[in-house]
Amino acid sequence: MHATHHGDHLIQVSRLRVSNVYLVREDDGLTLIDTSLLGSAGAIHSAAAAVGQPIRRIVLTHAHSDHYGSLDALHAAVPEAEVLVSARDARLLRGDRSAEPGEPRGRLFPGFFFPPAKTRPTRTIAEGERIGSLEVVGAPGHTPGQLAFLDSRDRSLICGDAYLALGGLFVTTQPVLRFPFPALLGTWHKPTAYETALKLRALEPSRLATGHGPVLPSPAAEMDRAIAAAPRG
Ligand SMILES: [Zn+2]
Repeated sequence: MHATHHGDHLIQVSRLRVSNVYLVREDDGLTLIDTSLLGSAGAIHSAAAAVGQPIRRIVLTHAHSDHYGSLDALHAAVPEAEVLVSARDARLLRGDRSAEPGEPRGRLFPGFFFPPAKTRPTRTIAEGERIGSLEVVGAPGHTPGQLAFLDSRDRSLICGDAYLALGGLFVTTQPVLRFPFPALLGTWHKPTAYETALKLRALEPSRLATGHGPVLPSPAAEMDRAIAAAPRG
């Protein structure tokens, strides 16, 4: 795992430089956002130990297995840490792929939900709440219940897979050749994902921290370019 610091509060920990988790420093310890692929728990734990603060909370942006893969192992390692996820994606986390009443018909790619997690959230979270310094922002589309997190101290935005930053920034609706799976297979509802890209841009983040690829400082121009290139549905 490869750890990089971005401002005073945000640390990106990257597996194979592709699949990211984030550690956010708070006064009482660390908030871990996402848990990466299966087999990443030891490396994430080492990265947190290097920061010198305990993991207090484990938060998921969304319930795809490249984000919850090491949840069970991390929960076993720090059972006192809260586990927080949206109510909608908590169902995906336990392997329930049924649609909710009134929800658009989307694609829930089964490959991203196996094996389901055994860990159950301590509680579910929703837009408008705060997790320490982080404002919870609804970011549906890639999954129905994806969440983004805006750090109120410096406007760092951790956006899950709403945007992806491998070889340049793109919206998750765009099937780029270098990383086509999110758009072709892994995104639940593209019109919703496109609306989320606009919504996150309007937050005027100071840096953008995606699920895949490097953290982007001052991302406004790149977000605009990504939105202009993105299919709307
Ligand atoms: Zn992902």
